[in-house]
Amino acid sequence: MQVPAHVDYEKATSVEHALALLARFGPETRVLAGGHSLIPMMKLRLAQPGTLVDINGLSELSYITVTEGELRIGALTRHAQLLASAAAGAHFPILHDAEQVIADPVVRNWGTIGGSLCQADPSEDLSAAFAALQASMLIQGPAGSRIVPAREFHTGPYETVVASAELLAEIRIPVRPGGGSAYQKVGRRVGDWPVCAAGAAIWLSGDTITAAGIGLTAVGAPSFAAAEAEDFLRGAPATEASFRRAGQIAAEHCHPVSDQRGPADYKRHLASELTSRALAVALRRAQERELAGDQQPAQGEDERQGDGRVPGRGGVPGRGGAPGKGGAPGKGGAPGKGRVQGKGQEPGKGRAGPRGA
Ligand SMILES: Cc1cc2nc3c(=O)[nH]c(=O)nc-3n(C[C@H](O)[C@H](O)[C@H](O)COP(=O)(O)OP(=O)(O)OC[C@H]3O[C@@H](n4cnc5c(N)ncnc54)[C@H](O)[C@@H]3O)c2cc1C
Repeated sequence: MQVPAHVDYEKATSVEHALALLARFGPETRVLAGGHSLIPMMKLRLAQPGTLVDINGLSELSYITVTEGELRIGALTRHAQLLASAAAGAHFPILHDAEQVIADPVVRNWGTIGGSLCQADPSEDLSAAFAALQASMLIQGPAGSRIVPAREFHTGPYETVVASAELLAEIRIPVRPGGGSAYQKVGRRVGDWPVCAAGAAIWLSGDTITAAGIGLTAVGAPSFAAAEAEDFLRGAPATEASFRRAGQIAAEHCHPVSDQRGPADYKRHLASELTSRALAVALRRAQERELAGDQQPAQGEDERQGDGRVPGRGGVPGRGGAPGKGGAPGKGGAPGKGRVQGKGQEPGKGRAGPRGA
């Protein structure tokens, strides 16, 4: 049995208390959120913090709300809460697409959005989704708070701009009228980390693309984004040919490596294919929205659950994955055996409520 090294434990009772604890115990202190990444790393002695500051009691960091034209997600929001969120699914179906294919119900029930982003795994799904949506992150520290664009949040594998005395508090996504978004992932098996995944968000004027966001994960894309493909799409017609070309450009500008998840050329092929497929689904959703005539961002939607449980749901919709079957990152699996996850799924479809990307 793997056992972590000795560690001291402190339970924070408020954000201010958490920040005070981080300051008091210094750089060897780590925030404990869901623990799904941190605890295994401690067991393997890849992480050996002196003190854990447990933030699980901080209900003020657990919410999804639409405020001041932004979807705001508290850092302690669980994956399952985001997957169950009507507001998130209606404004940004890409988030439901991505959440449906992250790990398994056990991980999603307790793993947090903030923990996923701060873990900064180069294969993290939400990093690509938030890059596509051009989200920003609210970070709180002893000197106050600051906002960092999602594309500047990660400074390298397993590294972010969050300093040791700071907390990621909130993720913010601007809600813009119209638009559509989608996420496409290939993993070796259900619930596994991606071999590659792509997220897309587009906005249209008639048949012309006015703005596009493309996120890529697990293929060494700078800042989890495909900026050159986004530039190509701006002002281009919303056609399959444009999406194919955007996919090729995205693939040309990422840097996949060959590993146990697959050879680099296969991953590059996936980057191209999944980008164009995500764009096509995003377009269809944008067109459906336009037909529905419901393009105005709504305000004041608020989903809070202090204890992290998802209101009215014992489990997670649409997934039957057994606990523990997600597999450890980087383990086993033959290249080329990936399955497309999320294809054809329409988690936000048919729900009443506001519309967005
Ligand atoms: C079996 C398995 C399968 C998985 N599959 C996938 C997958 O397919 N796709 C995917 O994207 N992810 C996957 N994951 C990752 C999973 O989503 C993350 O492990 C988990 O959600 C991380 O969140 P956490 O709350 O558990 O973070 P923790 O483990 O508690 O923390 C992770 C890191 O973030 C820091 N941290 C946490 N919260 C904050 C905060 N608010 N401010 C500052 N620092 C903070 C911690 O100090 C730690 O360094 C998988 C994980 C497992 C165990």
